[in-house]
Amino acid sequence: MKYSLKSKLSFSYAVMSLLMVALISFCINVLLQSRFQDYVIKEREQKNTEIVSMIEKQYNGLNGGWNTGTIENIGVSALEQGVIVRLKDAKGKTVWDATVHNNGLCVQMLTHMSENMNSRYPGFKGGYEQKTYSLKSGGQEVGHAELGYYGPYYFTDNDIAFLNSLNSILIAVGVLSLIMALILGAFMAKRVSGPISKSIRAAGQIAKGNFQQRITESSGTREMAQLTDTINHLADSLEKQQDLRKRMAADVAHELRTPLANLQSSMEAMLDGIWEPSEERLESCHEEIIRLNRLVGDLEKLERYEAENASLTISVFDLSGISQLILNNFESEFRKKGIALHFEGKSVTVQADRDKITQVITNLVSNALKYTPEDGNVSVSVQESERGAELSVADTGKGIPPEDLPYIFERFYRADRSRNRRTGGLGLGLTITKAIVDAHGGTIEVVSEVDRGTTFTVTLPKD
Ligand code: ADP
Repeated sequence: MKYSLKSKLSFSYAVMSLLMVALISFCINVLLQSRFQDYVIKEREQKNTEIVSMIEKQYNGLNGGWNTGTIENIGVSALEQGVIVRLKDAKGKTVWDATVHNNGLCVQMLTHMSENMNSRYPGFKGGYEQKTYSLKSGGQEVGHAELGYYGPYYFTDNDIAFLNSLNSILIAVGVLSLIMALILGAFMAKRVSGPISKSIRAAGQIAKGNFQQRITESSGTREMAQLTDTINHLADSLEKQQDLRKRMAADVAHELRTPLANLQSSMEAMLDGIWEPSEERLESCHEEIIRLNRLVGDLEKLERYEAENASLTISVFDLSGISQLILNNFESEFRKKGIALHFEGKSVTVQADRDKITQVITNLVSNALKYTPEDGNVSVSVQESERGAELSVADTGKGIPPEDLPYIFERFYRADRSRNRRTGGLGLGLTITKAIVDAHGGTIEVVSEVDRGTTFTVTLPKD
């Protein structure tokens, strides 16, 4: 059986509150009882002292006798307060004795006290106790007062009523605190579990493929805010992936449709005998097939670079050295087209995927060659900057119109749409280039002016 976070939290709060209230009530009770006992014992001591002092005053030093009439009054009043008085003169002879005066009342009083204490504290260990005080007059000992009472302490009916009402107040305060703690606990549990439930609902929607789902409410708790941020990020990247897949499928279909339709109609025309299957026509079909093959190959590459962002085969190499090697391979093509090719730079060591960086340089240089007319210039330079290793490929070619610049890294984007598919590129070279640079954590920037030239700058971060 699984319980919701809210009910678990509420239950924990309830148990905790109950324990706290019980503990606090217990401590207050114990403390009060012990303080009250001290108070009762002190009160009795004070009462005894008062009785003794009153008795002392009843000694007549002139005739050496005790005023028994007043002593009896004092003794009876003491008996009413729970004290049994016995007075003896200096020779030890009893002058007045409460037990002699009214033994029945004394016994009844002690029994009542014992019952009272035992009813409140079952098994209370108490009983008759007696204390002897010496009586003095004019500095001379004139007798002894023996005061008997129920000890070690005794609660009167009033005391017990007071303690009971105190306990009732404590219980009422405890119940009230418990109710408040429960309400507060339920509120807190709702505050904590609310955002979690929302995150679960949102994650469930995302799992069902509803990638537009976002959690808009922000939580005041740091961990909760991190959780909602993470779920929103997850939804972002899944939505991006889905868009990418959809666009890719649409783009590929679009790119394949025209050449395939051309091929189909040419073939059908030849099969139906409308067209002669001349060498020239077959050559044109062959070229179209080669182009389609290249397109599929490039798509495969792009897919791999975009999917395998993490799987770079890193090695340490000199960016200048590798650039020069690539330029050597291009030299004859540049010469054929009548374009000057320059290289400038000193050795700059990088940690990168050698094959993929080779692909980046090849793409940029082949674009420069493709889009630069005869008598143009292409300069490649490698240098170290604050941001890392920088590679620039600058040409004096036809340039890219400003309205096309933001899109040139998109797949299948060609600045010159009127250009024949057959002669132009596929519009994938720069997309592949950017995917590789991104995978290295680097940047690629472009500056271009129509009819003046274009400069691409790739920056690879330092280790
Ligand atoms: P393509 O295969 O068409 O060259 P790319 O992705 O390499 O595809 O380039 C996209 C578009 O960017 C090209 O069609 C072209 O219009 C423009 N472009 C790229 N490099 C240059 C350059 N050096 N000079 C002018 N235009 C360029």
